[in-house]
Amino acid sequence: MNQPRTILIQNTTIITLGVTNRVLKNHSLRIADGKIQEFGPTKTLTPTPGDELLDGTGKVLLPGFINAHMHFYSSMARGLNKAEPATNFNDVLKNLWWKLDRGLSSEAVYLSAMTALIDSIRKGTTTLIDHHASPYAIKGSLDAIARAVLESGLRGDLCYEVSDRDGADIAKQGLDENVAFLKRLAQEPNPALRGHFGLHASFTVSDETMEKASGLAREFGAGFHVHLAEAESDQVQCLQEHGLRIVERFQKFGILGPKTICAHAIHIHEDEMKILADTKTSVVHNPQSNMNNAVGVADLLAFHSAGVYVGLGTDAMTVNMLQELRSAVWIQKIFQLNPSVGFMEAVNALTQGNPLIASRSFGPELGLGAIAPGNAADLVLMDYRPNTPLDEKTFAGHLVFGLAEANVDSTIAQGKILMKHGALQLNIDEDRILARSQEVSKELWEKVWG
Ligand SMILES: [Zn+2]
Repeated sequence: MNQPRTILIQNTTIITLGVTNRVLKNHSLRIADGKIQEFGPTKTLTPTPGDELLDGTGKVLLPGFINAHMHFYSSMARGLNKAEPATNFNDVLKNLWWKLDRGLSSEAVYLSAMTALIDSIRKGTTTLIDHHASPYAIKGSLDAIARAVLESGLRGDLCYEVSDRDGADIAKQGLDENVAFLKRLAQEPNPALRGHFGLHASFTVSDETMEKASGLAREFGAGFHVHLAEAESDQVQCLQEHGLRIVERFQKFGILGPKTICAHAIHIHEDEMKILADTKTSVVHNPQSNMNNAVGVADLLAFHSAGVYVGLGTDAMTVNMLQELRSAVWIQKIFQLNPSVGFMEAVNALTQGNPLIASRSFGPELGLGAIAPGNAADLVLMDYRPNTPLDEKTFAGHLVFGLAEANVDSTIAQGKILMKHGALQLNIDEDRILARSQEVSKELWEKVWG
């Protein structure tokens, strides 16, 4: 990518988000060296000879979206119609995901990430926190995903989900893969890559493995990324096997803390919420996946009252964060049977919770999720001409009911234009990648399901 040093986005509406959201009409914004250099009224920011110009007329500029819980490898399941029907969540895992992940090759891992990342550029999602499994192609799998992240120009936080479900040797390989990747990040720091220590979920991780993971993560100062009480059966198993509720078990092994991400957290009690709040652990809500797997609804209002940090993820159902946001709003209203609750809790999960989670991983200095001078230039420009007043007070309603249906015009990450007026600006051959992904997924489906 040979791009000029500065980019000037002209004459647009800037929605800053951040701690104090501002809606700034007829503004321009200049990007230099990967960062937001300055912004102000259009007439005060005139083009200079080195600027690449991006017309923002009739559009709004927002911070790029963050997906706080993703599985790139799930891209390989799109359209799959071969898995046996499931009657509960454990069947979903056994009939679909744990068969699919065992069939993944290193190339499938790379392609699943690359295709999901290209989709993410099209939807304006610039940071993704992934949770990976490929039990028969573990070694180097995080490097394969990292290669795709770097080629895409987006940012990725990666981990390998350690599990005992495929035996002790595969559990050990999972531990080793997290260590190898965290070591690589320490040796070759890159602002586009971060790592967590991955664990699948309480019910597939033995005490011995959890103890090892805890010790290894501590050596690298890494937080964990783990599924928590996605189904009631996870809690039932934990109580039977360990005599503890899951959050208590995680606390016992030192899994919780400000850098740790617990996805789902549907079936947890108030005392568990208090532990999550006290340890400043983040919970990531995945409403579309929860509906698709019929596992229940996370209680956003209870999290809010308990003071738990909540973010929003897609669990690979989509990479479109505004589509996920709409689902978060609707599901909370139906769950509480009250049309006037849950709206701001859902909006804040995306606009406040995800930036916090990203800052704990990528560092607060990048200022991901907010437009301010000096922050990283990770931005999305959307086609949006509001038909009603758009200002700080009405913004949340526009986000859910208007912007969520608007098209993404341009996507910028790390100060580089990755999509301009709908056209990808990458050095990768999308047609070739899609064609190869079709071949590899077909082979994968045939290998696993015949
Ligand atoms: Zn998940």
